[in-house]
Amino acid sequence: MNNVLKVENLEVVYNDVVLVLKGLSLACPLGEITALLGANGAGKSTTLKAISGLLETEDGEVTDGTILYKDEPIQGTIPEKIVRKGVFQVMEGRRIFEDLTVEENLKCGAFTRPRSEINTSMEKVYDYFPRLRERCKQLAGYMSGGEQQMCAIGRAIMAKPDLLLLDEPSLGLAPLLVEEIFDIIKKINAEEGVTILLVEQNARAALSVAQQAYIMENGRVVMDGTAAELLNNPDVQEFYLGMG
Ligand code: ATP
Repeated sequence: MNNVLKVENLEVVYNDVVLVLKGLSLACPLGEITALLGANGAGKSTTLKAISGLLETEDGEVTDGTILYKDEPIQGTIPEKIVRKGVFQVMEGRRIFEDLTVEENLKCGAFTRPRSEINTSMEKVYDYFPRLRERCKQLAGYMSGGEQQMCAIGRAIMAKPDLLLLDEPSLGLAPLLVEEIFDIIKKINAEEGVTILLVEQNARAALSVAQQAYIMENGRVVMDGTAAELLNNPDVQEFYLGMG
């Protein structure tokens, strides 16, 4: 199995009428970070929701194509089963439980794990994010945006996924924090061996950690290549890296 995830000709419709993904194909090689880039509304979040089974909660439906996870088709599988198979999504906008403490939020991520492993994983999360250790008893809703993002990523680490889906981890963060979050994403990938599909509007930050990337426009992939190829491509530089 070279690719943990393989999406082929995926078509997604919302509310039975709006065609949002129009034959999207991509692959995530084992142990690597793959970035999915593109402007607002291109269909990046929809792609992640189709993979994690969350589309149905928003009246979306996969109407064509296949999603192969570890060579097995998973489209139509309920989200809980997909998590148990080892796929975990960090939603856009952080979506932590504001009325629970940081520690309780982290424990929620571990619902599929044996009890005996939870403390070790929690220590690991606190090593990645010392700020979460300092604030472990604080209600998550009172944390800053960056800290909430750390909490959301920490909760995903607690699930010990084989495939981690990250939806815009840089959204709304100050530049220094963006750098910190991306450094940690790189570290998690290297140390945990987790395969990552990273959705981002911040193309520069994403291409600095990813091995390869896909660029989406209007429900389709319009360009793909290694991160180095895309960083050197004049069109990517002009339209996605603001170098025109
Ligand atoms: P962004 O970066 O703004 O989140 P995106 O590339 O992730 O953009 P999506 O959120 O996947 O794009 O949205 C793609 C298209 O699907 C948009 O036109 C959006 O309006 C539409 N869409 C998204 N969610 C729904 C929904 N629940 N019902 C109907 N249409 C939706």
